[in-house]
Amino acid sequence: MRTDAEKILLTEKEISDKVKELGQAISSDYENEELLIVGILKGAFIFMSDLVRSINCQVEFDFMAVSSYGLSSKSTGVVRIMKDLEQNIENRHVILVEDIVDTGLTLKYLLENLRTRKPASLKICTLLDKPERREVQINLDYCGFQIPDEFVVGYGLDYAEKYRNLKDILVLRPEVYNK
Ligand code: 5GP
Repeated sequence: MRTDAEKILLTEKEISDKVKELGQAISSDYENEELLIVGILKGAFIFMSDLVRSINCQVEFDFMAVSSYGLSSKSTGVVRIMKDLEQNIENRHVILVEDIVDTGLTLKYLLENLRTRKPASLKICTLLDKPERREVQINLDYCGFQIPDEFVVGYGLDYAEKYRNLKDILVLRPEVYNK
């Protein structure tokens, strides 16, 4: 699998150091509060599982699954909720956990949708941010790394459902896409 990589963008160690930092920042911001952490499936599942083990306040979990691109590789802004929350978020402190923010269209839709449910607060924690591709302004409350406009896989992120289990974050060789 690693031979499909053009380069390693972020190593396992760089990722784990950053995830701990994010967890500590969240822990100090929400001291004495109860938090609901909402993971966006599937890409955020590995990041979320490491992140929450660095958070030392009371935490509950929920998940949403969305499909943002349909069959095309470009974001259209049309987001379908494939799995909704199980919990009521009214008056709760919610943090949405994403793997990567690209155009921002997926998060914009999710934020608008979740705000109608009247949470006490709603923040975003993303591991990766590709600011060059942003189409809508979004405030990222907790952000691990800003990365260049390259397609990355690993640590939960996939290409055609593969590579999610890699420990590092890699840029794939173009031949892999053109197989
Ligand atoms: P946005 O709506 O911000 O354009 O799209 C965000 C979603 O696009 C992410 O949750 C992720 O599923 C997908 N995405 C964007 N860039 C990448 C990338 O470089 N690699 C992978 N694997 N997925 C990406």
